[in-house]
Amino acid sequence: MIYNLKHTLSIGFVMLLLNFNDASGQENNKSKLIDSGAGVWLKGDLHVHSRHSTESSNNAVAKIINFSKAVKMDYVCITDHDNHVNGDVAHHTWTDPEFKSDTLLLLYGAEWTTTRGHGNVFSAKPYDHQRLFDVRDQRDVNIGKVKKSLNIHLSANHPSGKDNFGFSYDLVQSIEVWNSAMWTKNANAMMIWDDMLSSGRMMTGRGGSDAHHGTPTASEKPSQNTYQAAYNYIGTPTTWVYAKTRSLSAVVDALNHGRVAVSANPNSPHIAFYADVTGTGKFDMMMGDNTVSTGKPVKFQIQLMGNTIPGETYSVTVIKNGKTFNTYQIKGDAPVTTFTDVPDLKGRTYYRVTVEGKVNDYPEVPKSMALSEKMVSLSNPIYFNFDPKF
Ligand SMILES: [Zn+2]
Ligand SMILES: [Zn+2]
Repeated sequence: MIYNLKHTLSIGFVMLLLNFNDASGQENNKSKLIDSGAGVWLKGDLHVHSRHSTESSNNAVAKIINFSKAVKMDYVCITDHDNHVNGDVAHHTWTDPEFKSDTLLLLYGAEWTTTRGHGNVFSAKPYDHQRLFDVRDQRDVNIGKVKKSLNIHLSANHPSGKDNFGFSYDLVQSIEVWNSAMWTKNANAMMIWDDMLSSGRMMTGRGGSDAHHGTPTASEKPSQNTYQAAYNYIGTPTTWVYAKTRSLSAVVDALNHGRVAVSANPNSPHIAFYADVTGTGKFDMMMGDNTVSTGKPVKFQIQLMGNTIPGETYSVTVIKNGKTFNTYQIKGDAPVTTFTDVPDLKGRTYYRVTVEGKVNDYPEVPKSMALSEKMVSLSNPIYFNFDPKF
């Protein structure tokens, strides 16, 4: 037995953390949506390049911020390539006079751009990125020590294909399972994610547009890549975090804990995934939570939140331990379904969800919907018998 039950979150503690406001207590009322009063869903993009990445075009920091506000993002992380400035992002992206906003949460980050692959850093406050840059070619065990001392969230970017992530996944807390609007190119990233989950790693799956090119203003010249802005830009895809408060540190906490769903764009609905492990009719776990299996049946609820399209049928697929468990059809007018299963008493079990259907229009990036095809949203897992100290 490799997991340590002593360190696993007790169910009581999970309930304390969540405190869902389910006043009715009627577990069989499928149309009743959960009002999770313990936090707030915040949406944003975790992978965007500004003019401080040399291969980007027409993408000033102010343009990124103004666009993000216009499409009602709550947060954004500008992740410029560190190799373009020798790791000194603190004197480039973060000190750009345009790097400020009163309403949009601006995370501190950069794309760690190395010979062995790329990773994004997400931080609630400035950190010494130069130190991470300086050890990029060292053994992973040394990189891990520096990363730990910086107290940052590191995430594997576009892990398969060009610039594949050639480091140990033990260095990262999350993985970019949905890179850019072009959904189909993420199949290998999803496979790697399931491998990491199946091997006992509670690793958050997240999205990132990796947008480099903005739409030129009247005074700017188009580049040969300007066409990309219509296909892939901020919000394609959108990463939703269930944060305790509207703050930078709460966004990073939610990323650390897997309270995360991804949707095709900010207008598309996103998954909320809950479980009732105590059989009380109250959902006491949500995505990212881990508990000890009791060997008794657990009721799960999948809810599609946001702008579901009335009359549209959505196909909900539950993946259990990397394999399809079941597929359910739900309607846009009542976008909820439940299922029951018994997580293994002794071994590890995880469940995650994907939803396919019609992707909502995103007129600001008008050609992105065709690239997302039928992919509407994906959830993070609910875990049983995982070792939190792994
Ligand atoms: Zn990259
Ligand atoms: Zn990038």
